[in-house]
Amino acid sequence: MIIRIGHLYPDMLNLYGDRGNIIALTQRMLARGIEVKTDSITMGKTFIAEDYDILFIGGGQDFEQDVLLDDLKKGKDVEINKAIHNSTPMLAICGGYQMLGKYYKTYDGKMLEYIGALDFYTLGREKRMIGNYAYKTKEGIEIVGFENHSGRTYLGSVEPLGRIIKGFGNNGEDKTEGARFKNTFATYSHGPVLPKNPRLADLLISKAVENKYGNVKLKPLDDALELKAQQQVMKLYIK
Ligand code: GLN
Repeated sequence: MIIRIGHLYPDMLNLYGDRGNIIALTQRMLARGIEVKTDSITMGKTFIAEDYDILFIGGGQDFEQDVLLDDLKKGKDVEINKAIHNSTPMLAICGGYQMLGKYYKTYDGKMLEYIGALDFYTLGREKRMIGNYAYKTKEGIEIVGFENHSGRTYLGSVEPLGRIIKGFGNNGEDKTEGARFKNTFATYSHGPVLPKNPRLADLLISKAVENKYGNVKLKPLDDALELKAQQQVMKLYIK
């Protein structure tokens, strides 16, 4: 088995170790005998969504999100849209998450029109939402992470990735966090999110393997240390 990961804008969108998500996915697949090939899809590079089994896009500052816009509109927007609707597993973090929605109006009034693959929009405010936080997905997976964003995201018809246990999440008002559509998982969680939350990593991997090879049961891994670290975070910062 071989799984191909496409890492969008790794040089521009990589805050708080977001790249660690690629490392976690890779290591968890290698440990199960699944081969992994990762491509960096930088500005100017042609991107064909069908070439990938998993896509990842990290977070950035308003500045980078603005700089990328031109490149995004030269075809990557259409391909990302295709991947999302074709159920390709995708993880998008913070700035990368915002780019999947309709638009982001920054706190200083700049209008960034995004790809509109998912039904939501984001409004920037001067006061940032910062801190350790936690939320729970519909499968009951408790996720711990770190958020730092000016944008407040308001979901339309798309469902949230989880309900806030503690922290701000999408907007600090409605207790929603992130967005979920088919196999796209979008979240404000930096940290990076997957090494801290192995069950979420395995959810992405199992979707990718299932799409490509049918129903394969992933071999369980020993996550005792990861789960202990997660409990510690919960105890110290959350509950
Ligand atoms: N620029 C966005 C915001 O501040 C995203 C920040 C991030 O990716 N951490 O809302």
